[in-house]
Amino acid sequence: MSRPVPEWIGKHHGVNIPPRVRQRVYDRDNGVCHLCKMAIKSGETWHADHVIALINGGEHRETNLAPAHGHCHVGKSARDVKEKAKVAKIRGKHIGSIRPKQSIKSAGFPASPKSPRIDKAALPPLPLPPLMRLAR
Ligand SMILES: [Zn+2]
Repeated sequence: MSRPVPEWIGKHHGVNIPPRVRQRVYDRDNGVCHLCKMAIKSGETWHADHVIALINGGEHRETNLAPAHGHCHVGKSARDVKEKAKVAKIRGKHIGSIRPKQSIKSAGFPASPKSPRIDKAALPPLPLPPLMRLAR
C-alpha cells in the first residue's frame, strides 16, 4: 500500500495542475470519465475537470477534480458558463443591479367615444382679433 499523500490544493486558480496530481486523479477514478462514465482509452485526450466549475464557486483542489474525455469536457465547460451567466442574471434582477428593460405595460385608459364631426364650412366665420380690425 502506498503512503498517504496530502491533498493538492492550488494556491490560486491560475496554478497548473501538476502531472503527478493528474495521475492521482486518473488512478483514483480508475481512468473513467466522470461525465459519460466510459473508460478513457490509452492515448485518448483527457482533462482533469473541476466537478464544480471554478466560475461556479468550485475549489482548485484535488478532491474537486475528476478525469473527463476532452470532447466531454468541452460540452460541460460551455454548460458551466451558461449556468454561471443565468445565475448572475437572476441574482442581478433579484438584488436590483440589473434593471428591467421595459416597464410593465398597463391596459391604458378606456377609449373615449368619438366626438361628432363638425362641418367647418357650415359654421359662421370667426370674428377677427382686435389688432387685425384696427389694421383695416
Ligand atoms: Zn467522457
